[in-house]
Amino acid sequence: MNESGALSRRAILGGATGVVAAGLIGIESAVAQEIELEEIDIDARTIITRKQWGAKKPKQPIDLINRKPDKIIVHHTVFSTKDFSRKRALAHSRQVQNSHFGRDFRDVGYNFIISRGGYITVGRHRSLEMLRGGKKVVEAGHTVGQNDNIGIALEGNLDNGKVRDAQWNALVWLCARTFKAYDIPVRIKGHRDFSATACPGNHMYKRMKPLRKAVRNRV
Ligand SMILES: [Zn+2]
Repeated sequence: MNESGALSRRAILGGATGVVAAGLIGIESAVAQEIELEEIDIDARTIITRKQWGAKKPKQPIDLINRKPDKIIVHHTVFSTKDFSRKRALAHSRQVQNSHFGRDFRDVGYNFIISRGGYITVGRHRSLEMLRGGKKVVEAGHTVGQNDNIGIALEGNLDNGKVRDAQWNALVWLCARTFKAYDIPVRIKGHRDFSATACPGNHMYKRMKPLRKAVRNRV
């Protein structure tokens, strides 16, 4: 058993920050790996891990940024479906990863993805671990010049289709969870606020204000 294996499950799940703070950097990655294997369930909602959706390894190492994000940026993935199942959420995450690999990204560009059925999956490797820690972010690949912030992508083409209620509820929860974890003020933008893109689609973009309000009511 290695050093991290000797830690109790409780210490691993609850103590990632403590481990880093204690300066035991050598075992940080081992602990990280273990956390990634665990599905987390807070306030009765679950974030599906990369292992569960069958993520491929990143093509290059993922860089960590040693500060908190200052906002969340919302996207849509443009992959449409009428399948709202968990199985589809997993397949969609693989689809996004393959598409991003095809554009020479090192890994999924987004930190988290929310399926049409409202299932939340981890996008870029270590995003869940960093969220739990509340101190750092992974360098993502979703918005040029803003990749030190959290990118959340909704499945679908939200220029054509509306945000489904299940998706909306998951988005509100995940945003609130993120702002609470990092203990920062609620600040949410759409991808088009920074780049010449239709993303996150008109149906999502027109709901940015209600989204901020709903999230502020939850933090
Ligand atoms: Zn986008």
